Amino acid sequence: MKKIDILQAPFVKEMMNTTANLYRLGWDERNGGNISYLLKEEEVRPFLELDQVIREIPMIFDASKLAGCYFIVTGSGKYFKNVADEPSENLGIVRVAEDGCSLDLLWGLENFAVPTSELPSHFMSHIARLEVDPENRIVMHNHASHLLAMSFTHELEEKAFTRTLWQMCTECLVVFPEGVSIIPWMVPGTNEIGEATAAKMKETRLVLWPQHGIYGAGRDMDEVFGLIETAEKAAQVYTYVCAQGGVRQTISDADLWRLADAFGILPREGYLEPRS
Ligand SMILES: [Zn+2]
Repeated sequence: MKKIDILQAPFVKEMMNTTANLYRLGWDERNGGNISYLLKEEEVRPFLELDQVIREIPMIFDASKLAGCYFIVTGSGKYFKNVADEPSENLGIVRVAEDGCSLDLLWGLENFAVPTSELPSHFMSHIARLEVDPENRIVMHNHASHLLAMSFTHELEEKAFTRTLWQMCTECLVVFPEGVSIIPWMVPGTNEIGEATAAKMKETRLVLWPQHGIYGAGRDMDEVFGLIETAEKAAQVYTYVCAQGGVRQTISDADLWRLADAFGILPREGYLEPRS
């Protein structure tokens, strides 16, 4: 059967639009940021011959838990600002080989490009999220400016950091009731930072990399983008609040409980003062 032009695929369009949006927001300077998006075989089949492997790409870690899975990913060293103009150079569709040690390239990553150097963190995060949410499909990393700035000025204790964000915008508790996790500063691109991020991803969809950026995960592009956008907005408000002389009043824990009840969500246990 004749294949449809891959540039018509909804998931390719989503990657083009999202990377352009992230660049516009200033969170992905130069080659900063990366996205991986788990695809179903039936989503890919109308567009690509699945037995036509362009080349094999080795990996530095064991991804056998994702064997046979399809992903669309951003390329290593690629600039988000260029993705929409040259998608086939900056994006790639890959399938994890049966042994989990290499990728079959099915489309894109032209001129011998390879997937993002953060692939260990992405794939380990996918594995961790899928264990707690079988519907998880997206992992996104970027350098959201105010969250990054906050990692210099705010104490890096997860409960305290989460509570500050919850207090900065009323919607935050509703959008990320499980809170934000934080790993120590680590060298990016390594298996170690991948393991640390994935361990946190079992409990939260947001993981802060201090002095670097943020990781987000979720079921679709809007969820993950919205998640990071909401936390980033709260961090931006925090920046303004500090610049205006600091907090004079905020949302009380009693009010956060009322909010949780109204929206039917459960705040991370122990993060709010017990109900009085
Ligand atoms: Zn980064």
